[in-house]
Formats: sequence, C-alpha cells, structure tokens
Amino acid sequence: MLAIINAHLIMPDHLIPEGILLVEDGRIKDFGEMRLMSVPEGAEVLDAGGAFLGPGLIDIHTHSGGSAWFYEEPGAAARHHLAHGTTSVLPTLYFNLTLQQLLDGVDVVRQAAGTKEGANIRGIYMEGPYLNPKYGADRENNPWKGDIDSKDYQPLIDRATDFIRVWCLAPERPGVLDFVDDVLKKDPNMIFSVAHSEASPDQINAVENLRLATHHTNATGDLVKYPEVRGVCVDETVNYRDDIYAELICDSRGIHVDPYMLRLVLKIKGKSRVILVSDACVFDGPIPPGYDGVTDINFDHAGEIAGSKLTLDRACRNMMVHTGASLVDVFRYASLNPADMLGWKDRGRIKRGAVADLVLTDHWMNISKVLLAGVPQD
Ligand SMILES: [Zn+2]
Repeated sequence: MLAIINAHLIMPDHLIPEGILLVEDGRIKDFGEMRLMSVPEGAEVLDAGGAFLGPGLIDIHTHSGGSAWFYEEPGAAARHHLAHGTTSVLPTLYFNLTLQQLLDGVDVVRQAAGTKEGANIRGIYMEGPYLNPKYGADRENNPWKGDIDSKDYQPLIDRATDFIRVWCLAPERPGVLDFVDDVLKKDPNMIFSVAHSEASPDQINAVENLRLATHHTNATGDLVKYPEVRGVCVDETVNYRDDIYAELICDSRGIHVDPYMLRLVLKIKGKSRVILVSDACVFDGPIPPGYDGVTDINFDHAGEIAGSKLTLDRACRNMMVHTGASLVDVFRYASLNPADMLGWKDRGRIKRGAVADLVLTDHWMNISKVLLAGVPQD
C-alpha cells in the first residue's frame, strides 16, 4: 500500500486540506483529512510536502507531443504528455491522411498503447475523415473531399472502431449519416463530434450520439441567410445544447479562443461542459510579426495558425489567467469533464475505487510528480 500524506486533495467542487490518500493495487483505496485518518502499518509513505494532489489530466485531442507526431513516434509523444501530468491521452489522426495511412496510424498507436512507453494511450480520437474542406489548416491536400462512399470508409470502421473513442465529422457533408449508421452498427455507443463544419442546427441535431464540439469556435462557419443578420451555425448550436461538451484550445495569448470568448463560453456552457485540449501539432513555420516570444502556438509554412504546442498543464495555467478559474475548476476542465464525456467513471476524479492516476502540483499547475495506476513515474 502507498500512503500519500501532506497533500491538499482536489475534489470535483472543493478541496480537502491537509489530506491523505491511500493507494492499493493501482486504485484509490481511501482518502480524507490527515487529522481523521492514520497511515496504515507497513504502508510506503510519499510526503507531498503541502502540494495539491489531483486526478491525472486527460487530453482527448492531440496530434503530437514535443517534437513527435503520434502516428510516427507514439511512445515519445505519449511520454512527453505524461511528464506534463497527462495520464490519459487520445492520439489524434487527421483528415489529411489517406485510408492506408490512417489504417497504418491506428496500428502504430494501438501497438504502442500496450507498451510501458505508451501506457497512458487509451484509444484514438479520429479528426475526420469527413470534415468540410472549407475549414481546415490543409484545405488543398484533403484526400476525403469527394463523395462519401462506404467502400472508402468501411475498412477503417472494421479495423479501428474498437480502439476509436471519438469520431469527428461535418454533419453537412452529403451521405455522412450513412457513415454514422455504419459506425453505430459496429459500436452503438460511439461518440461523434462536430468539427471543421458549417452545419445548421438541424444538421447537427440529426447526428446520433453527437456529444462534443471539436476546438469550439475554431474552424466553424457562419451561415448568413440575410445581409447584416448574424447566422446560426455550429457555435450557436453547441452553445445552445446543454448535452454537448465544448473543447477549448487555451493558449497564452488567447489566439485560438479570445479570453472574452472563453469567459462567454464558460458562462453559457457552465463548468461541467468545458474540456481543455492541447490539439498539439508539430509545425515549424516562421513566426509572423506580432507573435514574437509565443511558445505555445504553431504556425505552418504559410504563417497560419496550425494547432498548438500546448500540454494540458500549460492550458490550465492559461485558463486561470484568462478566466480567473481556480485550481479545482481547471482540474474539472482537464480531467473530470473529459472522463465524464467519454463515460469513464473510474478516472478523472479522486474517488474510492478509481484508478490511481494522480498528479502533484503547486497552485499554478506546475506538476512535480505523476503517478500512473499508483506507480510514481520518473
Ligand atoms: Zn482540427
């Protein structure tokens, strides 16, 4: 048994100050205030020295870690995120890959998930293939622009559905509902996300199990029906529907989502429907004028913003700065909410019986120690 002592425990909506948490067989056995609980005899003791102890972070949408793409070097990418407190990660494959590349990418990631290096990989987030080519960082090279045909997508469904946790789509693509039906035949609980889209509310509402909005307010359209009248499109539908979780890329300068927009989305969606993601990519295009010193945003070779260089610890810090969120709040956005969205009841929270994926941090989300299923990582 492991006893973590002298830690302030991060609960979903409060703190337990000066707490103790017991781990046995990779799971949380018990926890509480130190003045009310004692260290069991024979337990190994980890003194947190007054740090905060929270559930490990869960990044559901990230293409890379450090300088490694997940589909090429999944172990290296996964370790990078783990060092920053991400104990569960869904490597993301993008719609710029061909069918064969997607199939290969799934295999590469799946193999890594079974190894020590990729121990925090828990499935795949499929950003595509049927998105709207009008909205993306790589409009020209989209091999999935043509008609939706089951002979193109069925091999992917057959090979990968059991390992895919989220499937993104643009609901306005003609034929996309056939694709949805075929995925649901294989897995009736698959989660769909609206992404790179200019769908109307009706088109979004027609997709079963649509519970997520990919990088909310980024790469979405504005269906203007009348001049000088604001259209109603993806962002409005996501804000309107209580059951849809909103991903947010929260960078230091508020480029992906303006700080005012972050606060507006939080006000509309509430604390239980916001999910921080890194959407990290590897691009090393020139930094355009005005962005000097920015280290958590990527630019492609055209100087356009292309995802981030974030990890979730940093995204949490940015969220505190831009919205005044507390440490308890950001653990919701980066751990509890993604776990709930995915239906993972034994991760993302300090609870008896939950998997002991844990992080020690200071008040500013500087992670000092990571435990994966109760095992401290170096
Ligand atoms: Zn995207």
